[in-house]
Amino acid sequence: MILLKPIKFIDSNMNTLISDLQTLIRQPSVSAKNEGIEECARLVKKILTKSGISSEILRIKKGVAPIVYGEIKSKKNSSKTLMFYNHYDVQPAEPFDLWDDPPFSGKIKGKKIFGRGSTDDKGELITRIKAVEAFLKTTKDVPCNIKFVIEGEEETGSAHIDAYLKKYKKKFACDGVIWEFGYVDSKNRPIIGLGMKGLLFVELSLKESVRDAHSSLAVLIKNPAWRLIQAINTLRDSNGKILIKDWYRDVKPFSKKDLELISKEPFDEISFKKEFGIKSFVANKKGFEAKKALVGGPTCNIAGFISGYTGEGAKTVLPKYALVKIDFRLVPQMDPKKQVKRLKAHLREKGFSDIQVKVFHGEAAARTDPSNPFVAQVQEAANESFESSILNVSNAGTGPMYSFVKNLKAPCISIGSTFIFSRIHSPNEYARIDLLKKTTKCICLIMDKFASS
Ligand SMILES: [Zn+2]
Repeated sequence: MILLKPIKFIDSNMNTLISDLQTLIRQPSVSAKNEGIEECARLVKKILTKSGISSEILRIKKGVAPIVYGEIKSKKNSSKTLMFYNHYDVQPAEPFDLWDDPPFSGKIKGKKIFGRGSTDDKGELITRIKAVEAFLKTTKDVPCNIKFVIEGEEETGSAHIDAYLKKYKKKFACDGVIWEFGYVDSKNRPIIGLGMKGLLFVELSLKESVRDAHSSLAVLIKNPAWRLIQAINTLRDSNGKILIKDWYRDVKPFSKKDLELISKEPFDEISFKKEFGIKSFVANKKGFEAKKALVGGPTCNIAGFISGYTGEGAKTVLPKYALVKIDFRLVPQMDPKKQVKRLKAHLREKGFSDIQVKVFHGEAAARTDPSNPFVAQVQEAANESFESSILNVSNAGTGPMYSFVKNLKAPCISIGSTFIFSRIHSPNEYARIDLLKKTTKCICLIMDKFASS
């Protein structure tokens, strides 16, 4: 079997995988602070080239992080193209003092590699590069065409990925996308993610007077904080149901297959509650209902409220303004633009047209149909590499998946090497070497199954 050679190659070349990953970690690339972005893009290009993948740096405009693009055509099967979407930027490493070793050290302790980006997303990226390299070095070919789209703004919200996808639509054309991350649960089962929720982030604000006043004047001067609280109290009931007219109107209901997958998904309610120190869920959801909400429940969440004096002790003040930041998670078929219109209409109807609405971020949800053949190919590969796997209809979080689906019309699936407790975005982030190896092999199997379907 042809796959034996690449698999063997991975086994005997783990040292290079590890040292290349260390090199990547040692190059800080914090998009939030524009630190090391250009340097890291060049480094990624170098590693792609070294692995036999032709690469280039793509730009849309000055000041925007470049995309590193890699491509390799298959000699024997050029009819199918698989894309790997990854990012080379990382989250800020702060707070530095909570790290046991410097955050960009790439230090190995036991069977783990530590450092910011070790798993999110440099670890994931390296498994994919090495899987392609394993084919190239042992068979002088790849089973199907491969494209790498590696962006540098993922950790700050992928502000320009849609523009890149539009501009390079032809160049990026493909038949399937392997998403940038993928979790492995505590029982070593990879979670195959078929979707991401969307997000609408807004700020509602209200200004009453030109300056803060002595609170004795509350008999005469209206308090904007009260008014804003009254307004946001009309958005959602205590069970989490959003009360804005037509908010759920376009929501695509779960299919039978979705429900079947959700019921099969493991969910450890007790440890989840313990982790957060909570006794019950919103609306007292339990079991299946809780899982359904994670996968496909829209939310209206107060992310922050600013008004008046919030320091220590007492200060009798009547604030001049109030501001609330709200994030709404969206599910498939909800259009962020339409939802903004509905929110504004709601505020008007309820008599709150004096409240300013500022939209920060709008992104639609995306899901790959579980019956898409790509899903079965990925699952087969995962089951062969990890013995078993979990199909997840949608992640509860948000990513730019909709931009890929819309521009490239290709199904997206997330699968990767990130152990769920590997402290991504936190101090002492690490990647497990055993999972890096297994995932690299799994990626080889995915390429092979995708190509031969
Ligand atoms: Zn991240």
